[in-house]
Amino acid sequence: MASSSSFVVAAIFSLCFLSCAFAELQRFEHAPKSDGSLSFLVVGDWGRRGDYNQSQVATQMGRIGEMLDINFVISTGDNFYENGLKDIDDKAFEDSFTNIYTAKSLQKQWYSVLGNHDYRGDVLAQLSPSLRKIDSRWLCLRSFVVNAGIAEIFFIDTTPFVELYWTNPKDHTYDWREVSSRKDYMETALKSLESALRESSAEWKIVVGHHTIRSAGHHGDTQELVDLILPLLKAYNVDFYINGHDHCLEQISDFDSPIQFLTSGAGSKAWRGDVKNNYCQLKFFYDGQGFMSLQLTQTDAQIVFYDVHGNVLHKWGMSKQLSMPK
Ligand SMILES: [Zn+2]
Repeated sequence: MASSSSFVVAAIFSLCFLSCAFAELQRFEHAPKSDGSLSFLVVGDWGRRGDYNQSQVATQMGRIGEMLDINFVISTGDNFYENGLKDIDDKAFEDSFTNIYTAKSLQKQWYSVLGNHDYRGDVLAQLSPSLRKIDSRWLCLRSFVVNAGIAEIFFIDTTPFVELYWTNPKDHTYDWREVSSRKDYMETALKSLESALRESSAEWKIVVGHHTIRSAGHHGDTQELVDLILPLLKAYNVDFYINGHDHCLEQISDFDSPIQFLTSGAGSKAWRGDVKNNYCQLKFFYDGQGFMSLQLTQTDAQIVFYDVHGNVLHKWGMSKQLSMPK
């Protein structure tokens, strides 16, 4: 009797432990600069072995990265075209990443999310720690948090949210290992994101995912994310939602919150002329190749978009009042 009740207690304890563990996102600490400020680059939709100006964008990232003395780089997904990585030995990893982003200033940590094209290969290969033995800059996980002092950055794997990839994959095969069922995956991902946002006391809260929430580009808004993720961003005062997926650079303001939607999906092939011109709240749109930088101090944010030549296309800044000491 005693042994069976202690078994029950142990089982309840481990169930609780498991559900608590699943609701907790993996966290990484990244020290800001000595003055507490932070700067980083954002690039998306890039891995094409240098083609479609990927190499030229990389060169300019190196130059701007040096100038801003960046802390790290964020990749918004669709890391390897057309179909992700075949396996952990796929040479595309070196051909499209290691041997392209060679500038000294880019030899920093890269934080990456997966895009829909990454799901068309061996998704577990791209998530595998063995890639870090080939290139220690690489860190790609499904959902995680980077705590960088004044900013917390919440990465979320958005591909499984998009219903059409499950119901009508057309000629593509998606690697849904570890995220099936979709319903369970979404529940856990949303619960984890909400709990991390709720606990955050950072001055700047930034959420990164591959898919758009608001976009004037080819794919437009992603309804699943508008319905499920946008309410969390509003409830927990997120400052920026950063994505790729549309092969352009853009900034859109929200209708009824201070959230800025920032697209940086122009790391290689861009889609010229593919824009819905009537999108209201559109602050900036560029249909060529390029990337974005974000510089943060405790009170100020500056966003800059660059083209393939490293020219500044658009600059936008905002200030916050210092929060009262707690
Ligand atoms: Zn995509």
